Formats: sequence, structure tokens, C-alpha cells
Amino acid sequence: MKITIIGAGIAGVSTAWALRQAGHEVRVVERKGSAAMETSYANAGQLAYGAIAPWASMSMIRSSLKTLFKPAGALKLPLFPSLLTWHFMTSMGRFALKPGFYETNWQAMLKLGQFSKQALQELESDFTLKYDGHHNGMLKLASNAAEKKELMGVAAMLERCDIRHHWLSAQEALDTEPGLNSEAPLLGGLHIPGDGSGDCHRFTVELAKACENAGVVFDYDSEVLSLRTYTDKLEAIYVRQHGKEDWQESDAFVFCTGCASREFGLSLGLKLPIYPVKGYSITLPVTAAERAPVSAVIDDRYRLAITRLGKRVRVTGFAELVDNDKTLPDKRLSVLREGFDFRFPDSVDWSEAEPWAGFRPMTPDGPPAIGQGMQDNVWFNTGHGTWGWTMAAGSAALLTQQIAGSPPDFNTRPFDPTRFSRKGWFKG
Ligand SMILES: Cc1cc2nc3c(=O)[nH]c(=O)nc-3n(C[C@H](O)[C@H](O)[C@H](O)COP(=O)(O)OP(=O)(O)OC[C@H]3O[C@@H](n4cnc5c(N)ncnc54)[C@H](O)[C@@H]3O)c2cc1C
Repeated sequence: MKITIIGAGIAGVSTAWALRQAGHEVRVVERKGSAAMETSYANAGQLAYGAIAPWASMSMIRSSLKTLFKPAGALKLPLFPSLLTWHFMTSMGRFALKPGFYETNWQAMLKLGQFSKQALQELESDFTLKYDGHHNGMLKLASNAAEKKELMGVAAMLERCDIRHHWLSAQEALDTEPGLNSEAPLLGGLHIPGDGSGDCHRFTVELAKACENAGVVFDYDSEVLSLRTYTDKLEAIYVRQHGKEDWQESDAFVFCTGCASREFGLSLGLKLPIYPVKGYSITLPVTAAERAPVSAVIDDRYRLAITRLGKRVRVTGFAELVDNDKTLPDKRLSVLREGFDFRFPDSVDWSEAEPWAGFRPMTPDGPPAIGQGMQDNVWFNTGHGTWGWTMAAGSAALLTQQIAGSPPDFNTRPFDPTRFSRKGWFKG
């Protein structure tokens, strides 16, 4: 089948690879000049198969609201939130209050995480991709009793999903991450040995090259401007490429359009309330390896993700609900610096810092949107929020199974892209 994918972020390129492997004729249409130039560019890089969880939980909302006015609090809201922001926040609150819903979604996302891990490992066994990646595990730190209690809840869910994990004492955590500042408060940590990390941008660019070698066509600098539907089919997309505009037809279309998916959904009669949740990262060269992190670390004290990427380190944080504001305020970046130096002092060169801001394509309930839309030939693989890099390989494999009509290996109902359009869905 001739399939056109819109978007060459990690979701689009992974989908291109999986569909090409399944024998389809694949074309990718991307408005930027190369792959992974939007949210997939400088994310935290954590392959957090065991740490994935939806945000729509009362404990997450409560703990975020408690620190709302502190400079280092992860959640940031403008004084006058837009209508879109209000809608996102109230929807998230409603989902968080729905009994049993959070646990079902959490479990489904963890299953998708494990499926992704397997899919990525299969891909890596086929050929070498250079992306500063490893599977050396992830350490979630607890500085106080409340954080430890929260992590114990995570451990209980991992137990239920049969995902390997260990509770480490403070000393064991220091042995696992010897660069950690032993003077900083630390009660211990949850270690998930099967997790890992890697540079999502490098990976996507490498995989795009492999796709091209396998016959996938990439149209860069090509923006999809509108869609032409007829009864139950999307007939064509209207594309502007290098100043020329034209309709392009295809047997099927897959929307991997990240934060732009909401508008495409609306044009296709689908409610897809994906909201851009802003986050920041700083990438730094390591100057003292013995004091730097060796793997992926999450520090709830500053709500930071700290990741070793080869000879570099990336520190990431914040969830800001400011629509598409692309600014990089110093007050946010200085919190990232403070939080990183608190745990791994004197290990990097701050004069070479590369700051970045990106937008997590977040659904209000948490799970991504993977599957068929309202038309027979329209598919979505989007809305992965905080964990798009982690879930990419599995989401692409799942979508490829769905297009082939194969039964899924696990409960995929929470990922249904049409769920927000169904009447009474809130009530279950
Ligand atoms: C601060 C931060 C930290 C994060 N850390 C992690 C992490 O540690 N681990 C993890 O798993 N995930 C993480 N994420 C999440 C992850 O980065 C995203 O979920 C993922 O990158 C989304 O990929 P995507 O391909 O769906 O979207 P994108 O990478 O945004 O790709 C969408 C593509 O669609 C294209 N497009 C949109 N509209 C059009 C159009 N009209 N025509 C043509 N092309 C179009 C865009 O140009 C873009 O290239 C983080 C995100 C942020 C912001």
C-alpha cells in the first residue's frame, strides 16, 4: 500500500521504518529541513520504560500545585491562562478524578513501554545506530520521606507489571551513580535496571537515513496546508514545497504531527485535544567524568531529569502551560543549573551550555493516540507527551500491526484516537 506519513519527528520516522519493513511504499512529508527538529530535538533522552506514567493523577496534580509559586516548582502557569490552557487543565482534572482510570492508563502505557523496549532492541540487533545510547538503567532519587513514599507507589505498580526494579539505600544509590554529591540530602532511590537513554535527535536522523536506504522517500521543507476528504476517505493533502503548492494523493495517511495534531484532528472531524506542554533542556559537555552522571537520573527535589549522553550531559525540567511561547527565560534555565550543580557539582562546562525549549504533545488523560481516525484510510501516531522517545519504537510497531489488521498483544483501548470524540467516554 502507498502510505504517506506527515511529520518526521521520532514518531514519524519510527513509523516510516516499521511500515517499510512491513512492505509498504512510504513517503514522509515534513515542513522542516530535516528530521527531528521540533520536540524530538533536545528532550531529556530517557528511555524510561519503567518510569512512564500519565500525568492525570490526583497525587501529581496535588504535588505540582503545592510548589506552583516556588521558582523551582515544575508546573508553571501564566497569570491569565488561555481558553486552550483552561480546557486542558480542567480535562486533566476530570480524568484524574475518574475512579480506576489512572491505573488502567498507567498499566497500558507501561505495557507499551515494554513493547517499545523489545522493538528498539530488535531494531538495534539488525544494525548499528550511533545515538549515544545505552541501557544502563535509571535511578529515581528520593531526598525525603514524602518522595520515598511516592516512589514506593511506583515500585508497587512495577511489581504488578513484572518490571524489574530495586530500592537502593543512599549508599547503594551513591555506588550506582558515583558522581552524586554525597553532601546533598538523599534517602535512597528506585533503580530500574532495564531503562536507558540516548540522544533522540541523533537516533531519528540515523533512522531516517536507514529508511532512505530502504526506499522511503522524504520530502523536507514541505508543509501540509490543508486536507481533501470525500465521504469516509482522506483523498489528498495539499502541500507547499519550495514555493510550489499541489495536491498529493495516497492510499493511506498517518499523522505523526506532534503538537500540530489537534488542528489536523479537527479538519478530520476528530477531537484530539493535544496540548503543547513546554519544557526546557540544557546540554553540556562533560569536563570531569568521575563527577558526572553515568546514566539516567530523575531528581524529584527539583523535578529534573538528568541524562548522560556520551561525552555530554542533558538536564531537563518544567511543565509550563503557556501555549506556544518559545522564549527561553533565564529564571527557568538558572533553576536547571542550580538543580544539576546540587547533585553533580563541577562536572560540566557551563560556558558551553546549549539551552532549548520544546513542547510535549500531551493528551489530557495521558496515553498517546495510536490507531485509526474517523476515515478508513486515516491513522494517527501522536500525543506521546512526556514519553514519545521511550514509546516510539513500540508505537510504530503497534500502528503497523493495526494497519495490517492484526490483533494487538495487549490492551490498546486507552490509545484509541477517537476516544475523545465518543459520547459518554468520560464516564467510561
Ligand atoms: C523538555 C522535554 C523533555 C522530554 N524528555 C523525554 C524523555 O526523556 N523521554 C521521552 O521518551 N520523551 C521525552 N520527551 C517527549 C518527547 O520529546 C516527545 O514525546 C516526542 O519528541 C514527540 O515526537 P513526535 O514525533 O510526536 O513530535 P515532533 O518531534 O514534534 O514531530 C512532529 C513533526 O511533525 C511536523 N509537522 C507538524 N505539522 C506539519 C505540517 N503541517 N506539515 C508537515 N510537517 C508537519 C513537525 O515539523 C515535526 O517535525 C520530552 C519532551 C520535552 C519537551
